[in-house]
Amino acid sequence: ALKCGIVGLPNVGKSTLFNCLSNTKAQAANFPFCTIKPNLCTIIVPDERLNKLEELVKPQKVIPATVEIVDIAGLLKGASRGEGLGNKFLAKIRETDAIIHILRCFDDDNVIHVNETVNPIRDKEIIDYELQIKDLETIELRFSKIEKQIQDRRYKQAKLEWEVLLKYKEALENGKSARTVQFDTKEKLMIAKNLFLLTSKPILYVCNVDESAAALGNKYTRKINEILQKEGAELLIVAAKVESEIAEIKDYKERLYFLKELGLMESGANRLIKSAYKLLHLETFLTVGKQEVHAWTFLTGSRAPQCAGIIHSDFEKGFIRAEVIKYSDFITLGSEYACREAGKIKIEGKEYTVQDGDIMHFLFHV
Ligand code: GDP
Repeated sequence: ALKCGIVGLPNVGKSTLFNCLSNTKAQAANFPFCTIKPNLCTIIVPDERLNKLEELVKPQKVIPATVEIVDIAGLLKGASRGEGLGNKFLAKIRETDAIIHILRCFDDDNVIHVNETVNPIRDKEIIDYELQIKDLETIELRFSKIEKQIQDRRYKQAKLEWEVLLKYKEALENGKSARTVQFDTKEKLMIAKNLFLLTSKPILYVCNVDESAAALGNKYTRKINEILQKEGAELLIVAAKVESEIAEIKDYKERLYFLKELGLMESGANRLIKSAYKLLHLETFLTVGKQEVHAWTFLTGSRAPQCAGIIHSDFEKGFIRAEVIKYSDFITLGSEYACREAGKIKIEGKEYTVQDGDIMHFLFHV
């Protein structure tokens, strides 16, 4: 499953947000779940299409797409030098697909700030810096590995890699994250291989605000927004404390009422998951049958065989063709049978690029 790590300085609201997210899980009582560790939870990706399909098809099971959230507490200034439990935490970040970086954007004298004043820009830089230093280390290590190869003309790739590393190094030394570096296609292929830099992971900044700023933000979020626009990074405003209280309310309508009072249409948890999906260029295809209605996550732009492979690797190997129904056709006509009668099932081959919301049926050799 997709894994997102929550990071941030102490007392910015990481566990509050984490609790808010793990409560979301509890509310989906008809979905199968397992909680593994206190700092790890699996949450569902909200998707109204599943509810509609459930009504129409009445399957035995509904299986939504899920995202794993890890609370990576304990990141401090000096982590890259191994301070605190520094290296351990950095290793945990390396295992994630995306980073959710929480910034404290609320004033409260009762909540101690590790650096005394509330200043989310400085906080952001502290953590960015630690991750960048770690990446520089990774790069230096790689430089020393390919140093010999570069003298040898047979290793054409080494030269290209050297240039990629140089670009990264320059950015990191200037306090920029690896994700801000622009590459051409050839270079991109090279990178895909194996650097695993921390600052090249997609990142979502979450500004944790007081309830009065839940909908529109405050002076802190506006400053952060300015900086992030320059970096091309995404920002989300969440009032974690009040939202974690709302998340505990059992009744759906009551929850919605309180969210509306805050000026919100949707819970912070839902907005966060949706943003993470967008950030990671993820979409959903569906499989629909009497046994189960199932949402599957795929990378935008994937072809039909790759999507078949998400269900089972044999489906990809033996891929013959796919039958595709558009979600909207299925809802309008009401069943697979009706779609077939109306000629709304399309036969697609290996080159078909799967679209968000496609209802797929794969045919394959065994
Ligand atoms: P962590 O160390 O980053 O995990 O921070 P916590 O989630 O434990 O939060 C630290 C303290 O800040 C707790 O006492 C929270 O109740 C409080 N807190 C979290 N979010 C907010 C907020 O939006 N407003 C206020 N006033 N307090 C908050």
